[in-house]
Amino acid sequence: MDGRIETDESPKRDESLRTIGAIVIGVLVATAGGVLCGMAINRFGELGSLSLWGLGVIAGIIARRVMGQPCRGVAWGLVAACIIAAFVAETWWMRYAPILGHTDWQQAIAYWPTFIGRYTTAAVIAALFTGFGATSAFWSVARSGIANSLAAKRILHGLCPNCGYRLHDASDHQACPECGEAIPPAMRSR
Ligand SMILES: [Zn+2]
Repeated sequence: MDGRIETDESPKRDESLRTIGAIVIGVLVATAGGVLCGMAINRFGELGSLSLWGLGVIAGIIARRVMGQPCRGVAWGLVAACIIAAFVAETWWMRYAPILGHTDWQQAIAYWPTFIGRYTTAAVIAALFTGFGATSAFWSVARSGIANSLAAKRILHGLCPNCGYRLHDASDHQACPECGEAIPPAMRSR
């Protein structure tokens, strides 16, 4: 009876906390994530840049859990974080790759144009994996969000969250008579 409101409002209540969480994730992905990928590239070469893809996938899953609801802004923020992470990773590699012999960060950053010209294949591969990772992160946070907001709207109007069947006359059911979707406990008592 009174559980009805709780299911829908809890995501909004700590929205600012979620926003902070999303920012922390973004910063961690761009910095620590970038450094970890740089280490992987340093160790495994082109194969190591696969970690840029993995980083995006993991970041997307974690961000989606933290947000608990759709957020396009966070999704775009993660895309930016993945791209920054790739820059950090490659710069890290240029700084620590034994074959390049750079001794400081300035030299490593200044090496960027040469890197793209000399290691074009590696740069393209890294860019590709970064793109895969960023895309995965984006959809993890944004797409399932669209489905969720539709379900929330349906619940609000007393419809089955899955198929939209009118549940007003089905209050004693455990599942939607139309599609079999389990009816959220909060709706059953209407
Ligand atoms: Zn249904």
